Amino acid sequence: MNRPKGYDPEPMNVPPLFQSPSRPVKMVRWLITKYMWPQSTLWIAIAALMYHFFTPGVDRFSSFTIDDVALLWLRNTVLMLVVIGGQHWWLHIRKAQGTDYKYESRWLATNRKSFLFSNQTRDNIFFTLVSGGGIAALYEAIMFRLYATESIPQLGSVWAIAAMTFAVFWIEGIHFYANHRLLHIDPMYRWAHALHHRNVNTGPWSGISMHPLEHLLYLSLPFVFLVLPGSPFLVTFCLVYLLLSPSPSHSGFDRFRIGESATLHGGDYFHNLHHRYFEVNYGMLLLPLDKWFGTFHDGSAEAHEQMKDRRRESVE
Ligand SMILES: [Zn+2]
Ligand SMILES: [Zn+2]
Repeated sequence: MNRPKGYDPEPMNVPPLFQSPSRPVKMVRWLITKYMWPQSTLWIAIAALMYHFFTPGVDRFSSFTIDDVALLWLRNTVLMLVVIGGQHWWLHIRKAQGTDYKYESRWLATNRKSFLFSNQTRDNIFFTLVSGGGIAALYEAIMFRLYATESIPQLGSVWAIAAMTFAVFWIEGIHFYANHRLLHIDPMYRWAHALHHRNVNTGPWSGISMHPLEHLLYLSLPFVFLVLPGSPFLVTFCLVYLLLSPSPSHSGFDRFRIGESATLHGGDYFHNLHHRYFEVNYGMLLLPLDKWFGTFHDGSAEAHEQMKDRRRESVE
């Protein structure tokens, strides 16, 4: 595959449950050791911390004002500056591991007119904090109001909330695929999603650097709790997960060095290939909808040829 020299991991496989023959026991091991640990567990822990210590009580939102939304926006901003900014500082400013495990050998653009302020990082920070953090705050306040006024069904037990927290990852697998496919259809692509795709070589701040119209769709996950029973914590969790998880997946690095010889799984090769080739891997690997709908690119030379064949067929 012709591209600037960078790190290419081994081709990916779909999770064990979706391989044939299906292997449910191996799937459970995969979920615990690969999927939940450490990233997904970290998002749940951060959400719990945010909800219990840094989020105003739900009662306050029975008649919320712009000040309450501003408070949630401020919480989102501080959280993103710490988590996303921390990764950017470590990997792209301090360059703590150089280009080891970096998908592209070049660094982020610092003088390109297509970006706001002609600077990729400043452009990405702007859309992330202003539009992303703002719309997430507004959605959280709306959902909190519905819980405060007992207008929607609410889960009562901690166990049910824990089970639903786990289910959120799968629900997002469907939600993200559906809204992402929609965003690739013109004029939605031109109006909104092209802004995210200016980032071919991505960094932590590229994750949710999106047009406000895309944020309105992407951050709408908590509205599933208008129909499914949920809880205020689940709303905060959905939004913390949506705001933070794209930062390692867009970090540009497949693995993070955490010691002399130890590394942790970091990036998301599956989504990295979407940024490189646009018409593959619209969803998430957890729920391999791309495999079932014929747009899966696993990183192998064969998958690359299949993608090129599909392109040729579509122009003929
Ligand atoms: Zn992306
Ligand atoms: Zn896309």
